[in-house]
Amino acid sequence: MAEKYRVKCPVCGTVSNLIGTDLCPRCSTKMDLGSQGMLHVYRMGNFLGFASGFTIYIDHEKYGAIGNKESLLIPLPFGPHLIHVVCGMNRKCNDPVFTLSPEDPYICAKIFMLPGVFQNKTNVERVDPASMPPM
Ligand SMILES: [Zn+2]
Repeated sequence: MAEKYRVKCPVCGTVSNLIGTDLCPRCSTKMDLGSQGMLHVYRMGNFLGFASGFTIYIDHEKYGAIGNKESLLIPLPFGPHLIHVVCGMNRKCNDPVFTLSPEDPYICAKIFMLPGVFQNKTNVERVDPASMPPM
């Protein structure tokens, strides 16, 4: 399967999936897919059968939805990034900050739900790249 990039166009602000291209589908600006950092996220299959969509926010900007068992590559500049994932009306998340740097340019993370007593919580956890499913 081709790698799927999730990008937010710095020119027109469109969030899109790029597969086999590096051009923004709306304004055709060339996206930077490799010279900086990369966040690779995977949404684990949900055994509780939640149908609601998970929406990803990075540094408070919406980066679109991630489907069940979907993998995305999100190119980001070096530096710290706040990751926030919400599920439907649920706004609780562990909100990790991942810092991409030339020494640590590729961060893998899994997204999963922790059922709570009063409210479910979304967790984003950094994992070893070897534990990620193939794209
Ligand atoms: Zn654009």
